[in-house]
Amino acid sequence: MNLIFLGPPGAGKGTQAKRLERLHRIVQISTGDMLRAEVAAGSEIGQQAKAMMTSGELVPDHVLVAMLGRRVRQDDCANGFILDGFPRTVGQAAALDAMLHELGLKVDAALALDVDEAMLADRIAGRYTCAQCGAGYHDSFRQPSVVGVCDVCGSHDFIRRADDRRETVTARLEAYRRETAPILPHYDRQGLLFHIDGMATIDAVSRQIDAALQRAVTTS
Ligand code: AMP
Repeated sequence: MNLIFLGPPGAGKGTQAKRLERLHRIVQISTGDMLRAEVAAGSEIGQQAKAMMTSGELVPDHVLVAMLGRRVRQDDCANGFILDGFPRTVGQAAALDAMLHELGLKVDAALALDVDEAMLADRIAGRYTCAQCGAGYHDSFRQPSVVGVCDVCGSHDFIRRADDRRETVTARLEAYRRETAPILPHYDRQGLLFHIDGMATIDAVSRQIDAALQRAVTTS
């Protein structure tokens, strides 16, 4: 099963993608995480991408298409994958279709997490993750049960993304509206688009996603 998550930053794509990864044993591919790893490694891609990411702009399509093309060909993707953060432009969506066609694969469902954009700045600005295991937390909505200690692995190290500052969030939301929202009709026309109420609780969002995937499987 090959899935795509669509929705603005802070909509909950990563949280839900991680859950589906465990549930269906398919791989979460977060292009944002891949780029952050390139930046941390100081690679050529990382050096090109760093300034654009810090200012909330999108990294050029050709960089992302080449990076994703290499990733979906890796062995761990054989059982399927969940794209989290790709495609982000109409050009990337077209490139993805061509790439999957060449590999004899297809997208089974595109899950659009619909959220109230006015709420997103608060959601994003307060979030942080465990530096060791990646568990996600939030200053207002989800603190660890013992403050300063990760519930999952007991680590005391936490990190905040450089682009989760309020000023950058505005630019990221604009990039979403301008470049990414126009992709939705592409998947709608193919009957692959499922709208999910991303303002519901995490568990309720998960239930809607499971129901959408049931429908996707029975109609495909
Ligand atoms: P994310 O973690 O998905 O919010 O991505 C963080 C940043 O990485 C974005 O604001 C972009 O600068 C860059 N990025 C991630 N995925 C893409 C993509 N598919 N196309 C262009 N830029 C991307």
